[in-house]
Amino acid sequence: MQLNHMEQKEKNGVSYLTFPVFDHYPQLLHSFSTRLGGVSQGEFESLNLNFRPGDARENVLENYRRICDAVGYSFDGLVSSAQDHHTVLRRVTNAEKGIGFTRPRDMPSVDGLYTNVPGITLVTSYADCVPLYFFDPVKRVIGLAHAGWRGTVQRIGEIMTNTLQKEFGCNPQDLLAAVGPSIGPCCYEVDDVVRDQVMQHEDLIPLELMKELGGGKYLLDLWECNRRILVLSGIPDQNITVGEVCTKCHPELFFSHRLMGDKRGGMTAMMALKEAHSFDS
Ligand SMILES: [Zn+2]
Repeated sequence: MQLNHMEQKEKNGVSYLTFPVFDHYPQLLHSFSTRLGGVSQGEFESLNLNFRPGDARENVLENYRRICDAVGYSFDGLVSSAQDHHTVLRRVTNAEKGIGFTRPRDMPSVDGLYTNVPGITLVTSYADCVPLYFFDPVKRVIGLAHAGWRGTVQRIGEIMTNTLQKEFGCNPQDLLAAVGPSIGPCCYEVDDVVRDQVMQHEDLIPLELMKELGGGKYLLDLWECNRRILVLSGIPDQNITVGEVCTKCHPELFFSHRLMGDKRGGMTAMMALKEAHSFDS
């Protein structure tokens, strides 16, 4: 696969993608997983990071151990979202460690996670929807948000920027953001219902984000949609990277809901701040 704005890395067979702009900071760990390097089989082959019916929980946990080992995350520090296409963001502290992994989820709706606590591994899940990554190198704050079309038109990216500003005093001018692998403008076909929702956001210049296919179908550019929302939230254009990696175009690397339906595993976007003593490792 040709990569222009991301890098593919591999350790012990576990393959994942990163953004060079974030790799620049030694205190930061981040990744977008591929399906390569895990133990799951069949439609979940092989690095399935989604607890779904049909794949054994032990397999998924082993896959998490493998991606943690490959990237350098703390397995004990994992904290999961509970995504349902709304815009609830959760501030994560040490008290939440293990939620969704070693202990059950305790909130019904969490489409974004953020923290300034080193050693916590934020986890959000994907199989075509758009992952948004946030990092403030000044205040040392990280965030992840899940933006399907619903989260996008509810402007979850802007909500995250505003939240980080309010809770940590982050200056949007300092924030670095990235739009991760997800279904691209090449493949993301939507109907009138979605089109009408996007059209309501005049400040996004919606006609530039959609290509009409006829028969009430459109190709929507969720990447550009989210990039514009991040810019409008105050993050400088040059601080935003769009990965431009389409999950539906690369079934050898990714699970895609549009391509595979429910017969699939899932990927994760993950982020963590390293603990101080391990900055130079
Ligand atoms: Zn595509």
